[in-house]
Amino acid sequence: MKVLKFGGTSVGSAGRMQKLLDIINPQERQIVVLSAMSGTTNNLVEIGQAYLVNDKAKAANLVAALKDKYEIVIKDLLKKPETFEQGKGVIDYHFKLLSSFANDLFTPIEDKIILAQGELLSTALYHIYLKEIGVPSVLLPALAFMKTDEDNEPVVDHITTHLNPLLDKHPDVNLFITQGFICRNAFGEIDNLRRGGSDYTASLIGAGIRSEEVQIWTDIDGMHNNDPRIVNNTKPIAQLSFDEAAELAYFGAKILHPQSVFPAQKYKIPVRLLNTMDPQAAGTLITNTSEKDKIKSIAAKDGITAIKIQSSRMLLAHGFLRRVFEVFERYRTSIDMITTSEVAVSLTIDDTTYLGEITAELGKFGSVEIDVNHTIICVVGDFGAEKHGYAARVLEAIKHVPVRMISYGGSDHNMSVLVKTEEKVEVLRSLHSRLF
Ligand code: ADP
Ligand code: ASP
Ligand code: MG
Repeated sequence: MKVLKFGGTSVGSAGRMQKLLDIINPQERQIVVLSAMSGTTNNLVEIGQAYLVNDKAKAANLVAALKDKYEIVIKDLLKKPETFEQGKGVIDYHFKLLSSFANDLFTPIEDKIILAQGELLSTALYHIYLKEIGVPSVLLPALAFMKTDEDNEPVVDHITTHLNPLLDKHPDVNLFITQGFICRNAFGEIDNLRRGGSDYTASLIGAGIRSEEVQIWTDIDGMHNNDPRIVNNTKPIAQLSFDEAAELAYFGAKILHPQSVFPAQKYKIPVRLLNTMDPQAAGTLITNTSEKDKIKSIAAKDGITAIKIQSSRMLLAHGFLRRVFEVFERYRTSIDMITTSEVAVSLTIDDTTYLGEITAELGKFGSVEIDVNHTIICVVGDFGAEKHGYAARVLEAIKHVPVRMISYGGSDHNMSVLVKTEEKVEVLRSLHSRLF
């Protein structure tokens, strides 16, 4: 059974939803994961922010404006009076809920409930549309099987044990529609898999049911060899290994949620990145194998803070790095890059929630310097067993730009450099023209 995920643009209008059946084959048993219609989650974030600062008038205006959009969607999508009324009922229900948070006790729990409404709306409306045109389908509530644990990690076994019985209940139905992004957390509250999380949902479901393939349908023909929003003449990559794809997703290739590769990788489920606007395009196939000796793609991750700890006294002493790492572990802050010298160690983080506390604790080991507004540029490929010349080619291409850190050799498929964010565009373009 395949899992097909359609992103925000792919379900971004009534017309787009109506065209999904060009891609989904109703004769084949499959799970269809939908995102919220494009723009909706951003709107929901704004609504939550308005409630959070108790600006009820602003929240009411935002809710009304979003509702207007959905009124137009159902007019275009649902042509029969009976199904139109059902669509109207769905909209009224969800928007009444969105209006109901105008109390003074607005907490992160209510905020997460608000964020969940986008996927609940898109899937409910698409399900009604399928009913209208006579295509049998079942709407599966993701909240019944998608769950995270105390560490906010999704639980694949929970999907297996809770989703399979739901599928078994409908042996005669081929199409199962469900929500991306949303889940229940360890406390049973409505939560989500973070922005862009519908990709993660698809991969998790794929893993949970040991799917034959996961397809991520989006608005571009696969993973490109550089960020197409910044660089001209980028090209789709036909084939990537799971490790390469994970690296690119983690280091900023927005086409994939950073963690979405891992569940599919664990169960060796091929992932295809495909273009809803051009379904015949080959896209990108992600599997266990990699094309040898090749630079594949470049990605960039902004919002990076570099921390340098200088300590002539302690660095050579064994156990020093452990103590440094323990500080980050205590504050549940993960480190992306690390470089060391005899007298100093530099590392980067992207979550600065506890930067103050971390800096204070590291100060006990030596002097600490913080550099904000940096970007990690990550070059991914198979650098081969002997790694001839790859590092030189990368550094040659950016020799005119100041580089704060370099990381190479951690794996066979990644080289990263840290630069000031203001240099990002130049670095991406310069690498592109010289490496490809
Ligand atoms: P969806 O809503 O379908 O999940 P996203 O907007 O999350 O789609 O991801 C697709 C977008 O990712 C593309 O439109 C493109 O602008 C952006 N993107 C960034 N880097 C890359 C890359 N290396 N390859 C392809 N797309 C990329
Ligand atoms: N709707 C969510 C978001 O915009 C999840 C997704 O689209 O993947 O982040
Ligand atoms: Mg996305």
